[in-house]
Amino acid sequence: MDVSADALMDIFKNRGIRSSYTRMRIMQYLMVNRNHSTADEIYGSLVEEIPTLSRTTVYNSLHAFVEAGLARVVTIEDNEARYDADISDHGHFKCDSCGRIYDFTVDVDCIQPKALEKFRINQRDVYFKGICLGCLDNK
Ligand SMILES: [Zn+2]
Ligand SMILES: [Zn+2]
Repeated sequence: MDVSADALMDIFKNRGIRSSYTRMRIMQYLMVNRNHSTADEIYGSLVEEIPTLSRTTVYNSLHAFVEAGLARVVTIEDNEARYDADISDHGHFKCDSCGRIYDFTVDVDCIQPKALEKFRINQRDVYFKGICLGCLDNK
């Protein structure tokens, strides 16, 4: 995906998001660093470059991206929201040892629980936890 400033400004315009240099940098960060960052991590990475940045701005921008369908929230841990610019269907695996979050392909549409047949589903999340291969090999 094109992460240039011009391309992002166009995307913001099309999705009705108020655009600013700061928002553009936050979106770029999310698209380049596919590490499912928390708002705090994004703040910490960008504050040197943008000294006027506040945590509130980061939260508000992320919220606007999620509302507009440009990003999604990954709540694999209760106490922290992580953000993902990859909005395609995929599951998340969190390693209990190194804390890394891995993406994996899963056909989420195939999960159709009979008990929820008549319900309206707004969101489907697939979360796995365990120990990743890298950590298993280091034991
Ligand atoms: Zn690990
Ligand atoms: Zn992801």
